[in-house]
Amino acid sequence: MDNCIFCKILRNEIPSSTVYEDDKFRAIMDIGPVAKGHVILLAKEHAANLLEADDELLSAALPAVKKVAKAVKKTMNCDGINILQNNGEEAGQTVFHLHIHVIPRNKEDGVKLPPPMATYADGEAAELAKKIAENIERREC
Ligand code: 5GP
Ligand code: ZN
Repeated sequence: MDNCIFCKILRNEIPSSTVYEDDKFRAIMDIGPVAKGHVILLAKEHAANLLEADDELLSAALPAVKKVAKAVKKTMNCDGINILQNNGEEAGQTVFHLHIHVIPRNKEDGVKLPPPMATYADGEAAELAKKIAENIERREC
């Protein structure tokens, strides 16, 4: 992925501040932090987002996120942590290489997360649940 900024970071063509690395992931400081101490965990293997990523890679992602989140919490002495992951431009994704945000949170930090709630008409959630359930991909045995 010649023009992918995160692939360039992973090839050390662009400098970054690394906080964690294993065979599948590297965690770096986000250049445009939502809050101080904001870290992004980059998959070493290029996938545009979570929906495109390999299941084996994804199964290693949460333990790595947990490790980084605990270190961020300890370092920043924060009250909480948001784990965020954007898929698609309309969802706020700006770099199309799988990454997971680890964002330290404090009371009255001014960060607008979580966003305001949407609402359902009567029965709408149950109807949507049925449709989503029908679209869950079943594994071939
Ligand atoms: P997204 O909006 O795709 O979920 O998140 C992309 C993140 O990557 C943003 O938070 C942005 O600040 C960060 N970012 C973009 N370019 C660079 C870069 O060159 N270096 C680092 N460290 N972070 C970057
Ligand atoms: Zn990439």
